[in-house]
Formats: sequence, structure tokens, C-alpha cells
Amino acid sequence: MSTTEEWISKPKGLLIGGEWREAADGAVLDVYDPARGEVMTQVAAGGAADVDAAAAAARKAFEDGPWATMTASDRGRALWRLADLIEEHADEFAMLETLDIGKPLMVARHADVALAIDMFRYMAGWATKISGQTFPISVPYAPGANFVAYTVREPVGVVGQIIPWNFPLLMASWKLGPALAAGNTVILKPAEQTPLSAIRLGELLPEAGFPDGVVNVVNGYGESAGAAIAAHPGIDKVAFTGSTEVGRSIMNAAAGNMKKLTLELGGKSPNIVFADADVESAVAGAANAIFLNQGEVCAAGSRLYVEQPIYEKVLAGIAAAAEGMKVGPGVEPDTEMGPLVSKEHRERVESYLALGESEGARRVTGGERLDGPGYFLQPSVLADVRNDMRVVQEEIFGPVLVAQPFDDPDEVAALANDTPYGLAAAVWTTDLAKAHRMTQRIKAGTVWVNTYNIYDAALPFGGYKQSGWGREMGEDVLSHYTETKSICIGGL
Ligand code: ADP
Repeated sequence: MSTTEEWISKPKGLLIGGEWREAADGAVLDVYDPARGEVMTQVAAGGAADVDAAAAAARKAFEDGPWATMTASDRGRALWRLADLIEEHADEFAMLETLDIGKPLMVARHADVALAIDMFRYMAGWATKISGQTFPISVPYAPGANFVAYTVREPVGVVGQIIPWNFPLLMASWKLGPALAAGNTVILKPAEQTPLSAIRLGELLPEAGFPDGVVNVVNGYGESAGAAIAAHPGIDKVAFTGSTEVGRSIMNAAAGNMKKLTLELGGKSPNIVFADADVESAVAGAANAIFLNQGEVCAAGSRLYVEQPIYEKVLAGIAAAAEGMKVGPGVEPDTEMGPLVSKEHRERVESYLALGESEGARRVTGGERLDGPGYFLQPSVLADVRNDMRVVQEEIFGPVLVAQPFDDPDEVAALANDTPYGLAAAVWTTDLAKAHRMTQRIKAGTVWVNTYNIYDAALPFGGYKQSGWGREMGEDVLSHYTETKSICIGGL
């Protein structure tokens, strides 16, 4: 048994106030290896009572603990140390992600883990740079008076962070990094499908220098632990990444005490290939845009629009790329696409394939299961779709590309914007003016040109329209984890 497998096999609790404990009602949840379709281990499944305890621990750590008096430099140092610790355990974290979600080990190591390390380092730098401004105020009704006016940026308080299963460690880093840099305390709830890497991260927190209660890890189901966080009166803010549907229910639950909210929700991102594009790189880019991480990416390039003259050529190229992909267990070194995360999720993706065909789409390739117990599904392409089809409007969150031809830039800009989402988009062209015009017309939080799936700790990420509220990463995210306080001193 490898060290990672040995670690996985041990019992796993909830991290509350620096202690690992069972759920108050003793509940546990099964953790599956999707490549084998088997339960690997069980972890404690928190509920409302555990969220209560975590909220109390986080409040105590925020108000009275050593965290409240730690300097910004100390917070930055702890974040940097956490990044170093993840790096020291990088192979272990990558293996945990691969076993838990199914993704290829290389993707886990060089995307998930590498970006998570970078995120903590980037936010370590911000800890000492979150500052206010001074203002030369005039106050017309106080002539002759002299004031000193300035702002300070304070942490929001106790933050609930609810994350999805597709990039568990990375999503934890996107959320924990800015929250901790700004001095908040956190209750982190990983997705029930993928609890492992957050538990391992929790084990490293004391060594990094985070006091007890600053980060609490409460695994559990969305409808119990997640809903309890969204509704809890002792939590000041919720940051959520997941489906638009759940985002809406979190908005409603958060209304009670008017929590601050940031929401990173679904997408149905258009990928637009003009006839003047470098076809070879557009084909490779479009395949990567949809098939990376089994298509389980909120910003996946799931809608392909190709200018008519090269439509069939691009389709054939992507179909060949899909057919050439090695689908298999993430732990095998030549695997390019792993299994889908769960049995239920594969069934959902398959139901969309059937729906697409019943709506009149042409299946160019893929959609078949692999023999055996894992939740594998061949990458697939549905061609000749129309924008009014459900497979074009709804997020499938799997390796299913829907494609259609277009004739001119005006038409494709309108088609690209014609969904409730606005998370990301891409344009492939060698015409610089066309590229700029399209970036201006597309309503999305990220627009890539001649590339796809490029993420960086410095670059804000988030959605227009029903893809969400607020931005993660970059300097932008810090505004969502701080309150601005105006201070005005008179009598001078
Ligand atoms: P997906 O469809 O990708 O599984 P979800 O939006 O269902 O995404 O889940 C994302 C996260 O939201 C998970 O951590 C899940 O447990 C949580 N969640 C699901 N339902 C709720 C809910 N009603 N309230 C709060 N959190 C929820």
C-alpha cells in the first residue's frame, strides 16, 4: 500500500477549532474512486450542528484569537509557508485529486496543484498591500473646518466557502488565499464527491502557522452542511462555486442576515473559429477547450462556432483528436482523459447526448462507455446544432462539444451572447482588428484569443449574467473579502 493509499484508508473527521472530530450525529459519507467505481474510504459528514460549532470557532478565532493580532506580514508568511508545504507534498496532493475525481495525474500535478501553490504565493504578497486611501474632503456645510479623512480595509469576518468537485484543491486555494490574506476566518465546505485534498490541506495548516479555528473544514452534503452555511446567522459572507441553480438557492438562504455573496456559477462558453485562423492550432485548442478535465470545467469551450468555409475541416480535426484521446484511469501515465466523477454524473451527461440527437443534432463521434466498472465516457461531438436546442443552452459539464457553422461576425457575436451564461469565450483569428472587435462584443468575464483555458493567480476570473457575481483571483477578489471603513477626524 502506498503512503497515499494508507492515508486515504484512515478515518477522517471534520476540522473545527483546530480539532479533528466526528460529525455531531456520527454521519459519514462514502468517497468513491470513479476509475474503479468503488468506495475508497469514508469521511465525516457534517450537518447543521457541525456548521454551528465551526461558525463559533471561526468567530472566536476572528475576534479573540492570535489571528486577530497577527500582522499582515505574519499572515503573508503563513500563506507562503502553506504554499511551500503543498509543494513539498505536491505528488501526494496530485494523487489524491486523481483518485478522488479521476483526472489524469499529469493534469492534477501541473494544473491543479501547481496553480494552487501559485495562488497561495500570489495572495501571500497581497497580505501586506491591502490598503486604503486618503481624501482631500471639502464638506460644503462646514466652511473653514479642517479634517483628515481616509479609508481602511478590514476583513469581512467569518466567511463560508462552498466549493465544487472538479478542482477541489485549486478551488480551495482560490477561496482561502484571498480570505486569509485579508484576515478573515473560514468555514470551508468541499463537495461531497471530493473531500480528500481539503482534509490533507487542513492537516498542514498548523505547520504553516495558522492558529486554530482560522480555517475549519466541514465536509458534508450540499443540502445539509452547504445549506446550513448559506443560512447561518453567524456567517458574514459566503463564497460559492457551483451550479447556477444552487447559486440561486444560496442567494435566497443568504438573504436572512444579508450575507455578502460571491458566486462563480455555470457556463456555456462559446469558442469561435474564423476562417482566417491558424486551423491546426484552433483544432487543438478547441479540443483542449472542451475535453480538458473530462469537460468538467465551468469555463469549458462547450459551444463551437466555425466559419462556414472551414466548418467540416475543423469538425473532422476535433473528431480525430477526440478519437485519438487515451481514455482511462488517471493514474496511468498515458491517460489523457479520466472517468467522469460519478455514476450519476455520467448518466446525466449521457442523457444530454440522447437529448441532443432527439433535438436533431448529428453525433460525429464519441458518447460510448468504456467496458468495466469505472465511469468512463468517450469524448463526443454533436454537430449541426441550433442555438434554441437545450444542448446548446444548458451546461452539460462533461466531454460533449456542440458545434454549428456561421457566416459572419455579427451573426456569431449574437449567437455567442445568446445564453443565460457569460463566464468565458474564445476567438480564433489571425486578424487583429477582428479579434479586438469580438473581445468587445462578447459578454463574458474572460475572453481568450488564439488560446483557451489559461488561468493565472493575477488574472481575475468570474462571470457576466447568470455565471455569477464578483471575481476570483487577481487584485479584484480582495474587494470581496474586505469592508471599506471611512474615517474622518475633525477638530484639528
Ligand atoms: P455540481 O452540479 O457541479 O455538483 P453543485 O452546485 O451541486 O455543483 O455543488 C457545488 C457545491 O455546492 C458542493 O459543495 C455542494 O455540496 C454544494 N451544494 C449543493 N447544494 C447546496 C445547497 N442547497 N446549499 C448550499 N450548498 C450546496
